[in-house]
Amino acid sequence: MNNNGSMLGRDVSCLRGVGEARKKALSKMGIETVGDLLACYPRGYQNRGDTSTLLEIKEKLIDGERGPFSAILTISSEPKVNMIRRGMVLMKVRAFDETGSVEITWFNQQYLKDQIHTGDTFRFFGRFTAERSKLQLNSPIMEKYQEGVTLPDIVPVYPLTSGLNQKFMASITAEALRLCGRELLEYMPTCALEELRLPTYAYTVYNIHRPTTLSVLESAKRRLVFDELYLLFLSMALGKTAIKKKNAKKLESANISEFLSALPFKMTGAQLRSVNEIIGNMSGETLMNRILTGDVGSGKTAVAEAAAYAAVKNGYRVALMVPTEILALQHYESFSTLFDKLGIRCACLTGSTKKRERELILSGLTGDRNRIDIVIGTHALLTEGVEICDLGLAIIDEQHRFGVNQRAALFEKAKNVHSLVMSATPIPRTLTLAAYGSIDVSRIDELPSGRQKIDTFIVNESFRDRLNGFIIKQAEEGHQTYVVCPAVEESAETADIENAANIELFGVDITLDNSVPLKAATAHADYLADTLSDLNVAFVHGKMKSAEKERVMNEFSEGNVDVLVSTTVIEVGVNVPNATLMIVENAERFGLSQLHQLRGRVGRGDAKSYFVLVSDSKNPEAVSRLRAVKSTTDGFEIAEYDLQMRGPGDFFGESGTIRQHGQMSLRLAATCRDTALIERASYYANKTLADDPHLTKESNRKINDKLAALEKMSEHTLN
Ligand code: ADP
Ligand code: MG
Repeated sequence: MNNNGSMLGRDVSCLRGVGEARKKALSKMGIETVGDLLACYPRGYQNRGDTSTLLEIKEKLIDGERGPFSAILTISSEPKVNMIRRGMVLMKVRAFDETGSVEITWFNQQYLKDQIHTGDTFRFFGRFTAERSKLQLNSPIMEKYQEGVTLPDIVPVYPLTSGLNQKFMASITAEALRLCGRELLEYMPTCALEELRLPTYAYTVYNIHRPTTLSVLESAKRRLVFDELYLLFLSMALGKTAIKKKNAKKLESANISEFLSALPFKMTGAQLRSVNEIIGNMSGETLMNRILTGDVGSGKTAVAEAAAYAAVKNGYRVALMVPTEILALQHYESFSTLFDKLGIRCACLTGSTKKRERELILSGLTGDRNRIDIVIGTHALLTEGVEICDLGLAIIDEQHRFGVNQRAALFEKAKNVHSLVMSATPIPRTLTLAAYGSIDVSRIDELPSGRQKIDTFIVNESFRDRLNGFIIKQAEEGHQTYVVCPAVEESAETADIENAANIELFGVDITLDNSVPLKAATAHADYLADTLSDLNVAFVHGKMKSAEKERVMNEFSEGNVDVLVSTTVIEVGVNVPNATLMIVENAERFGLSQLHQLRGRVGRGDAKSYFVLVSDSKNPEAVSRLRAVKSTTDGFEIAEYDLQMRGPGDFFGESGTIRQHGQMSLRLAATCRDTALIERASYYANKTLADDPHLTKESNRKINDKLAALEKMSEHTLN
């Protein structure tokens, strides 16, 4: 809290008007110190200086704009106050400008009466409505307008909690800025500021709270976006700084030709390149710490098998950990079919492995009698009593389904062991640093040839009956269907004009189309169960216990369920080749990469498969996003496109593909579409880390402090 007597570190109660009650309210928002207060940016601004005439406002309303709008109006009648119901007082006045007149109403604000007199001119800011061409203005904000007195054009709108209001927030922030101006020291490398023409930190903080013009606000915002990305990249990468350990498990022989000829297919160029990178890595001077990324179906398993083969041939054991029991069994089948031919023994260990068998496996993992070379399992591998002698390589599939702790636990068990993490999530190149830090990356950017194409369709609600018919048809042919609904809850709109901003600052999603009514997953599951009464419809969602989720998934995977309705929790990597149809409801709500990931769940068997996007959205960006999914199947291309269209927020957000525990959240940069700025932030973060991998140098202390403060703040927003 204290920062050697600095103003920024002082308790907010040192500011005028902050007593016990308000201190408590501020603390609810995570604001304890004056510095915290300055780091609490407005969530938007009211552009009150952008005034319109009543005629212009009428035209804007006809064009479908909703405001709020600002207008300079003169009062033409004394206020009339009426009690319309018990506890409901309505006050009305009329006002005009050179183009027309308007009726202004307030509810329960009769105390304003004495401030309003015929002939006075005010600047009003609020929501207008037009009924039968009569203009109305409801509960506006008003400021007395006098020639020669300047009213601020841009007024900040702060996030609030009960007991606080905008006026108070503005006044304490103004005081805080006055007191701390000199303490807002620069921490960013000057070369970055110069290259990108970014303003200084002090200027930025001042102008984010008190912008005088829109262009000043823009440049302050750009600086904050840059800072946020730079700091996020640093903090993400710091958690993933691979410590290059000396390789005590060096492979001596790297010949895998016997393995390659046992494979039932020829590896693609991208697979072979990855295999070479991996085996080269394991034969080198430092331990391998590598991620293997590639689209669903790109053949990561075969690459992992090649790596496992090389390790086993050099006398080591291999462990493969996957997030669910189904996946463990699937991998076990694939591995044992192949390795049986090569005289290499595999075993599968999960929570439901019987005691006798478990004992056999455990002894095969330590001794040479009934020796097991490759063990595949869930986090049961991490339980006490599981010891793997001569472990040379640990592989993790679908990394982001594991908690960080579990991953750490495997690598703890696998100390001084090569590690390979497989991920089906294509990440744009600019986000590589944040996603993987200094971990090496192999990319499989090519699908095996001869893959059948999944047909993608975009339809609207008018296709509902045909769609249901199509589900039934799949079921009649013995196939299964996934139906995915967005998990978002519909949010109530705030009508409170004091808090209405017409310039948004924070991660307001401008590209996601929320205008179409949402198909709540539960309701839709009920609808389908009703409508498709001959079929077996099941439902999984994010709030379910994981055992229950797994039970339903199992039922689906065994073919006992015809239609699986879910929010986006469908287990990553699950392979149900019999599923031939996926329907995504409210497809406009999904990010591109998400849609792409979902599509990968079908088309895994021999039967023709379909991916249907249901959307009534007319939002041009949503439409073009859906068309993009239809037009390409390359995950890396889609990821790049996603980043350009929607900014990096999707990758780091709640359901994002790059996430880590205790991650600071993106506030401003979430929807940043300036990919060059993102690239530069990554470049400078990389540069900082290359010079000081753990940020321990004194010259980086300010950056470290900043990171700590941000992480503390994110913890708060997560609560
Ligand atoms: P993922 O990368 O999603 O884990 P898999 O490893 O499960 O993909 O591979 C998907 C399917 O493609 C499997 O049935 C696998 O046998 C097959 N496969 C992998 N590589 C090739 C290849 N080079 N040629 C033909 N089929 C392949
Ligand atoms: Mg896989």
